[in-house]
Amino acid sequence: MISKHPSFFISSLCVLFLLTACKDRSNVPEKQVVEERQPALEEKNVNRDLFYHYSIWYAFVNKVFEGDLTVAKLKTKGDIGLGSYTKLDGELIMLDGVPYRATEDGLVTVAKDEDKIVYVNTTFFDADLTFKITNPMNYDSLRVEINKKLPTKNMFYGFKIHGMFKNIKCGGLNKQEPPFKEGLDVLIPNRPIFKAEAIEGTMVGFYCPEFIGDINVAGYHLHFISDDRTFGGHVMAFNSESLDVSIDEMYEYQFVLPNTDAYRNVGFDKQFQYKKN
Ligand SMILES: [Zn+2]
Repeated sequence: MISKHPSFFISSLCVLFLLTACKDRSNVPEKQVVEERQPALEEKNVNRDLFYHYSIWYAFVNKVFEGDLTVAKLKTKGDIGLGSYTKLDGELIMLDGVPYRATEDGLVTVAKDEDKIVYVNTTFFDADLTFKITNPMNYDSLRVEINKKLPTKNMFYGFKIHGMFKNIKCGGLNKQEPPFKEGLDVLIPNRPIFKAEAIEGTMVGFYCPEFIGDINVAGYHLHFISDDRTFGGHVMAFNSESLDVSIDEMYEYQFVLPNTDAYRNVGFDKQFQYKKN
């Protein structure tokens, strides 16, 4: 039951507060409103060590496939990111402030500002730690390597991992139309698979401590975009030749819930998590 869970209650209060704040803006003189929306002013106040997370993972798992977050708003919250577009119309991969969309047909395009997002993790990336891996790696050995370097497993981390990949297997999403029949627990095992060989590109993503597991993906979650921006998706497996790893430590977490009927009415019946560690 949502009402029995204090964190949901607090989050809902935050959402309500934001809504109230938005409404109040209509009474503010027009000049002030325009000034508030200047990106330059927003940027001055931006917290670059903030992990921004939109929509609870279990809502996404349980068929909340339409979001109210726009790509334009996402760009004010970070410059790397991963997630999915509304109706599962493509995997979201954001690198250097550009939000890419890898659709079910395997094509990669740049998303439009008005496009909607259903789930996303983002931050403004600043490398706190960088290192090179010259040995061949796969997903498991990379996790082990990064685990050795992380200062603690109790913080949030963002990653930009660029390199040469002998091969890589990425997952996509099949676009859904309402009424949505299946949750991610069914859709992900049947997702479209994209494979590439001898490809250069960047994996972007995040590490979340185990305790985040009910609201977000615990452990590592990475998406890939090729240097030529023609191939991308959710990283499932790879064999790399050499990697340049950059890590950004984050100690603040902003959790924003969708203000939609679908979210308000969702039951968190289904559970699905990627492989942890
Ligand atoms: Zn993913």
